[in-house]
Amino acid sequence: MLAGAAAAGAAGVVGAVALENHSEAATTSTSQATREPLELTWFGTHAWQIRCGKSVVLTDPWLTRFHTGTFTPEGADPKTKLVIKPDVIDRHLSTADAILVHHGHYDHMADVPYVAKKTRATVLCTETHANMLRAMKTPNDLLSPVRGGEYLPFEGFTIEVFPSLHSCGGKRHTYAYPGYRYEVPPRPRVIEDLVEGGTLAFVITIGGLRILSLSTANFDPNALRGLQVDIVLAAPGGEPGITDRLLQTIKPVRKVIATHWDDFDKPLDDPGIPWTDLTPLRTSVEKTGAEFVVLDHLQQLNL
Ligand SMILES: [Zn+2]
Repeated sequence: MLAGAAAAGAAGVVGAVALENHSEAATTSTSQATREPLELTWFGTHAWQIRCGKSVVLTDPWLTRFHTGTFTPEGADPKTKLVIKPDVIDRHLSTADAILVHHGHYDHMADVPYVAKKTRATVLCTETHANMLRAMKTPNDLLSPVRGGEYLPFEGFTIEVFPSLHSCGGKRHTYAYPGYRYEVPPRPRVIEDLVEGGTLAFVITIGGLRILSLSTANFDPNALRGLQVDIVLAAPGGEPGITDRLLQTIKPVRKVIATHWDDFDKPLDDPGIPWTDLTPLRTSVEKTGAEFVVLDHLQQLNL
């Protein structure tokens, strides 16, 4: 997610009800699937590592972090230079099979060229993201442009891709750095060069669990209606009531994990500092009966 100081708004989360209470909805076999230990690690923003045995999926792996002013009254300086800190990335990430790019903003995609080269993981992204990644010298053979609707089996997990929407806010319901790149642009140098480029949502089925990954508070109701998952990664912010609408759109879930809630101008090694009050997100989740989970920087959740 990315909105100026006045960030985009509210959102996200999900529903409740223990799985056994809606087994009739088990068309996607969540409750029957064989469970294997899963390890989720949070690196701030929407950067998650999901590991099951040898299989590793990364979402929007941005670990570098640098000062932009996003959460100050003045907002982010669009001319802030893009940098990558390999030492920070190397300290935390080693292998990956898939990198899921949810949208093109720097706080989601700026480290992807380095992480992709290092891990040789398949990068799922839109054509605009792929063009920006090509401009940043990401090996072309790693890029797999998708649009939403794909069902992609990997060894040890599957990825379903859904069209999604960036959260918006303010009088005109806008967000920072919109746009598309239909050809490979000049190399992105500053944060405004990394445009949103379309937003995707993903369902990762791994270790017998289905995880819906949303990088902003917004979502496409037509794409997610009736979706059954076990866990949702949901962001605060967005337009009022958006999380309630999300939880009414998909089938009840048992766990919602807060994502992208930290002030990402602050270091990853320090505890996360919320950029917004998480109470509305928590309230939306808990009133459905779902468990609301908040991890801190570098914390792991074993499922
Ligand atoms: Zn964003």
